[in-house]
Amino acid sequence: MKRTRKTAVILTAFAALVFAGGCQKTYEPAVINGAGEDGTAGTEFRYENAAMEDGTGQKELAVQTSIKEQNMVGDPAADLKDVNETVYVTGDSVNLRASASTGADVVAVFKKGDRLERTGYGQEWSRVRYEGMTCYIASRYVSATAPKIENETKAGTEAGIQAGEAQQVAFQTSWKYAEFSKINSGTAKLYKAEGENRKGITICVNAGHGTSGGSSVKTLCHPDGTPKVTGGTTGAGATSAAAVSGGMTFSDGTAEAKVTLAMAKKLKGKLLTAGYDVLMIRDSDDVQLDNIARTVIANNCADCHIALHWDSTSSNKGAFYMSVPNVSSYRNMEPVKSNWEKHNALGESLVAGLKSAGVKIFSGGSMEMDLTQTSFSTVPSIDIELGDKASDHSDAALEVLATGLLAGINQYFGQ
Ligand SMILES: [Zn+2]
Repeated sequence: MKRTRKTAVILTAFAALVFAGGCQKTYEPAVINGAGEDGTAGTEFRYENAAMEDGTGQKELAVQTSIKEQNMVGDPAADLKDVNETVYVTGDSVNLRASASTGADVVAVFKKGDRLERTGYGQEWSRVRYEGMTCYIASRYVSATAPKIENETKAGTEAGIQAGEAQQVAFQTSWKYAEFSKINSGTAKLYKAEGENRKGITICVNAGHGTSGGSSVKTLCHPDGTPKVTGGTTGAGATSAAAVSGGMTFSDGTAEAKVTLAMAKKLKGKLLTAGYDVLMIRDSDDVQLDNIARTVIANNCADCHIALHWDSTSSNKGAFYMSVPNVSSYRNMEPVKSNWEKHNALGESLVAGLKSAGVKIFSGGSMEMDLTQTSFSTVPSIDIELGDKASDHSDAALEVLATGLLAGINQYFGQ
């Protein structure tokens, strides 16, 4: 009985992903050719959806009113955005078509979990490569996220960590700001809470650093190409910075990237137990995702983004968050303009949570910093510095930090 219920939960969650259009959190119903946009036609052609493409037999609804010229209807294949990315089939028996129409020949039928290389993206149709041919598949039946396949080995079974259902999340070049990323062949992992207390809130946990080769590649600091307004790892005035820097080394010789990973795993366990879903940007020593790719994935697949770091000073100064610089040009640049208050509010909550857990806090708990992460974030997004080179990073210390971060996350989301 339990098994049945669990399956239903997975299917519900899965359906939510599919209907959200991959990882995107909102789905805009597609309308092809609004009625009479040119003042002559009055031709409206709407697909209710391409639901029949998944073999469930749902009826396609095509409404045509006041038709004067049937071929006023645009060619859906002509409006696709060029992309180059991996997607996964999310439905059973999904048709691959010779052209972007439900009337076109079926070239092949795919099953859930099949992988495809997408070369064009539109709300209705995606262009994919298949055995050397160019074919089309309904966009709503492919996703950046690999669907959960029955009998897949459970991930997240480390001692003390509640098991979660892990799904791979591939970077999508169709996502906003994706073109600014240089390293994005890796995949993040999405773990879903399984308890009765599941909240439906996804926390992106980004273990800082851990991308080999990342420091020798440069990406733009700002989407509009303007220079950084503060110093930091990269000096003020620079327009590009390391795609992912290597991170510092603790006074005892431990690499920061190793500690941020241990911290991320610990926080993941606590979040899953508390009912949050967790998007783990890095789940092992290396992930080939640069700071922009990490940010873009979080933008599309999570409700907030928390990057875990320790600072490069050696004074054991305590924890703080990197706040959005109070520089008008920066705060007026999108997407910072629309999101900076949320970033700072999340940072304040995290610091309050850490404080409540007894963690030492540096100064006022924040330091203004122009970060690539902040510059491309469209969800509440924070770089939290949990201490520095001289800080205790033992398992017990990380446990306290995780407790504090969870308290801060609860505060931010009103939980
Ligand atoms: Zn760091």
